[in-house]
Formats: sequence, structure tokens, C-alpha cells
Amino acid sequence: MSVCENYKEVEKHIDAACKRAGRKPEEVTLIAVSKTKPVSMIEQLLSLNVIEFGENKVQELTAKAELLPSNLHWHMIGHLQRNKVKYVVDKACLIHSVDSLRLAEEISKESQKKQVTSQILIEVNIAEEESKFGISPSELLPLIEKISILPNISIQGLMTIAPYVENPEDNRWIFQKLKNLSIDIKGKNFDNVTMDVLSMGMTGDYEVAIEEGATHVRVGTGIFGERNYTI
Ligand SMILES: *Cc1c(COP(=O)(O)O)cnc(C)c1O
Repeated sequence: MSVCENYKEVEKHIDAACKRAGRKPEEVTLIAVSKTKPVSMIEQLLSLNVIEFGENKVQELTAKAELLPSNLHWHMIGHLQRNKVKYVVDKACLIHSVDSLRLAEEISKESQKKQVTSQILIEVNIAEEESKFGISPSELLPLIEKISILPNISIQGLMTIAPYVENPEDNRWIFQKLKNLSIDIKGKNFDNVTMDVLSMGMTGDYEVAIEEGATHVRVGTGIFGERNYTI
């Protein structure tokens, strides 16, 4: 199947998951995760008016953004190092992977310099896997309190990367837990914090994530095919 056919297939599954959950498909943004894939594959999707793309490396994001139309929205979904922040703050529409005060401070500082307000998500490691980035659920509230007072930064919601599982049902509790955390935080009414975005669900489990309230799903393999990291 072509990239465009894959994309339409994923959209169909999103529609079906929304129906099951009594949600509207417009509530869910499909982010096409194009990491490791060539610009020519991204260009194919432009014929479907796809504008939301995700990358996990700053250099790859900025290089592709430069080669493609300027109306595209680039989501920074990978671990972000502080020394790379200056290259990405005015390029990414949303940084999904903020997991420390130091990183948020750097984003705030560079955003002030460039006179932009950066939209961010806090990455939570719900399953508390040691190999993963993201903060543990118990650290979330104090971190949000501290970030919310920084200038030129706006917390839009939460993100999680669930473990790889054979059966997506095994990740349902993770999506439920992220949703519940976002409800708790919304109730605190912090300045500069909305909890409008829940970025959760990837190729293997986005339908379950949508059933549990995902507003943004990040799908790579399901659209672009398997990635080859050896080349
Ligand atoms: C690669 C990646 C994805 C997409 O993964 P697939 O399983 O290929 O859909 C989603 N989110 C993040 C943070 C990623 O790094």
C-alpha cells in the first residue's frame, strides 16, 4: 500500500475508535511521524492536505522543515537536549517531550530571545520504565507549578510513550492514568496551563488511546512502513 493509502486507513481506524468512544473525529489530531523517512514520502501526503508531522531529532526536523512548505506543523516528539533548544523553539508547533525544569527554563529563555511563546507538553513515564525519558507521575504536579510561572512558555497538556506490547489492551491503564492526571491538573487552574492536549498512542495502540481520550496520536510505522535504522 502507498503512504497515502496507509494514511487513509489509519484515519478510518481513528473514525471507528471515535465512534466507539462517542467522540468526534475532529477531536483527534493524527501526527504522521516521519522520522528516518525521506522528504519524498512526506511530499506524497501533501496531496491529502496533511500538515501535522512528527520528528524525534532536532536536526532532522529543521532540515525537513526547510525543504518543505512553510505551512506544515512540526511536532518535536523526541528527547530534547538543552543545547539543541535554540534550533527548535521557533520551528516546532508543539514540543511534546519536556521532562525537566532545566529544559523548560532553556525553552523559556530561547523563546524570549526569539519573541515567541512555546507550546509544550510534559512527558510522563507512566509505566516508570527505566529506559524511558519522562517524569514519574508523582513529580508531575510540582514540576508543572514551577514551569507555569516561566515566561514565553505555555503548557498545553501531557504526553506519554507507552511500552511496546503485543496486545494494545495491556496499555489501556496507562492511557487512563494519563487522562486522570490531566483532569487533576486542570482542576488546579494554573496560569498558562491548559490540559487540552493528551498526546498518547502510536501505531500499535492508538485506537485504545483514542478510546481513553487521546487528542493527538503519533503514528509512524502505520503510515510510512517499518523504519530501517541500519542505513
Ligand atoms: C517513533 C515514535 C512514534 C511512532 O512510532 P510508531 O510505532 O512507528 O507509530 C511515536 N512517538 C514517539 C515519541 C516516537 O519516537
